[in-house]
Amino acid sequence: MLDGIVTKSTGSWYDVKSPDGSSTKCRIKGKFRIHGLKVTNPVAVGDHVKWTLDDVEDNVGTIREITPRINYVVRQSPRKKHFLHLLASNIDQAVLIVTMVEPDIKLGFIDRFLLMTEPYNIPVTIIVNKSDLLEEDDLVYYNYIKAIYTNIGYRVILTSNEDGTGIEEFKAALKDKTSLIAGQSGVGKSTLVNTIEPDLDLQTNYISEYSGKGMHTTTFAEMYALSIGGNIIDTPGIKNLSFTHLEEMDISHNFKEFFELSADCKYGDCTHRNEPNCAVKTALKEGAIAESRYENYLQILQDTEDQNYWERHSDI
Ligand code: GDP
Ligand code: ZN
Repeated sequence: MLDGIVTKSTGSWYDVKSPDGSSTKCRIKGKFRIHGLKVTNPVAVGDHVKWTLDDVEDNVGTIREITPRINYVVRQSPRKKHFLHLLASNIDQAVLIVTMVEPDIKLGFIDRFLLMTEPYNIPVTIIVNKSDLLEEDDLVYYNYIKAIYTNIGYRVILTSNEDGTGIEEFKAALKDKTSLIAGQSGVGKSTLVNTIEPDLDLQTNYISEYSGKGMHTTTFAEMYALSIGGNIIDTPGIKNLSFTHLEEMDISHNFKEFFELSADCKYGDCTHRNEPNCAVKTALKEGAIAESRYENYLQILQDTEDQNYWERHSDI
């Protein structure tokens, strides 16, 4: 069998890149499961696979095996509620692009994104783009947000495609690594990537990939090699992230600053809501935990519970 890496998945076909750089369209054969999870795409971009060439002339093949994943990022499928969607696997880091203005920053989205990368301790860099639009007040707020996320171990970089702020730092962060890149649409993700790699022309890719049904862009990720070394896995603009498949403890354990404190909570299974002697609530009162993080945490727990309520009472 041949070795390869999946660089694109569009449903039933996968692009598999060989070590020599050539690419082959493959289907899958066999059962690929991740311990009991129902996924819409059993093979992810970033997967290392063993495959066979079925037709030399047409250059089509079959994926037969997936090498065990070092890590993966999974979200709830936006189309099928009870399924998960693998965004990428075997990544060195994730890069989340946000803006303070145009569009306004959504801390809930950042915290939900981190909930997706935290199970495998994937390093995350938060890029705050469009710094050229920031006024003095916005900069004060930016510094406050930067402190929240750097204090809990994430990197934050301010960038602008307009005046070049942070572009070198952004580029250096990507060099020689495989990075998942995500952001809500409009934050300037394509412009940023095109700034450092003009040949990719990401925008063009999106336009050519409108699905048959109306103007919905596809939700397929794609891996591109960077000329500076490394790869990016571009994920099309994510609208929102929900996690109703998670249990309470999956959520509390993946808010990492809460988890670090939870050993000091009175109860081992403390959810940091109304339990007495909760170290997380004490830290919140003392200002050691950001209120926005705590509120987003409560909101995610609530969403999960509401959802599960209807699922437990599906006969109503
Ligand atoms: P995407 O949806 O995240 O890929 O966003 P685009 O790259 O298409 O950018 C959305 C809009 O923001 C476009 O009109 C860009 O010209 C603009 N834009 C991108 N980066 C910047 C920036 O750094 N500063 C400003 N002022 N506008 C930007
Ligand atoms: Zn607690």
